[in-house]
Amino acid sequence: MVVGFDFDNTIVSYDLLFKKLAFEKGLISEDFPANKTLVRDHLRATGREPLWTALQGEAYGPRMADAIPFPGVKSAIARLIQGGVDVRIISHKTKFPISGPQFDLHGAAQAWLEKENFWTAAVGMLQQHAFFEPTKELKLARIGSEGCEAFVDDLPEILLASLFPNHVRRFLFDPERIQAPREGLQVLSSWDNFCWP
Ligand SMILES: [Mg+2]
Repeated sequence: MVVGFDFDNTIVSYDLLFKKLAFEKGLISEDFPANKTLVRDHLRATGREPLWTALQGEAYGPRMADAIPFPGVKSAIARLIQGGVDVRIISHKTKFPISGPQFDLHGAAQAWLEKENFWTAAVGMLQQHAFFEPTKELKLARIGSEGCEAFVDDLPEILLASLFPNHVRRFLFDPERIQAPREGLQVLSSWDNFCWP
């Protein structure tokens, strides 16, 4: 049995980090909600899209260490592994940011997983089971080639992509319950109640 997980915004929560970065740069006030989407919408609505792009470069790169795991995700993975399930992390992430200073985004993600003890007995994953694919197509192919029976992702467009392997059960991670229900997608709003099979 193999279950696959997306990485950004599925395992890693960036909400607090985006608030912190935007506040440090004087872009929002201290009482602004800790919510990545609201920070983005605020910057867009005030004509500061380039600053949003710059914040992303920092959050997924040099400041990644300040991001936190979603509550319960590490124990959910540990529980699966103890129950005999093989776990894969399969992410679409370019090696370097599309714009801005060059920074090894794959290295930052690997360092974060190590810092969060994913490779120790506390979680129990194998480092070679974390895949950072440079394109969406390669991510979808990897979900198939690793033999995933189920996959969890925060993006409906990944789960509903035409190249998504047909036989894989699709879980949409939606902690804020903001996505419209869609056929074929099972919504997961918290890691506390995730189990497989
Ligand atoms: Mg994601």
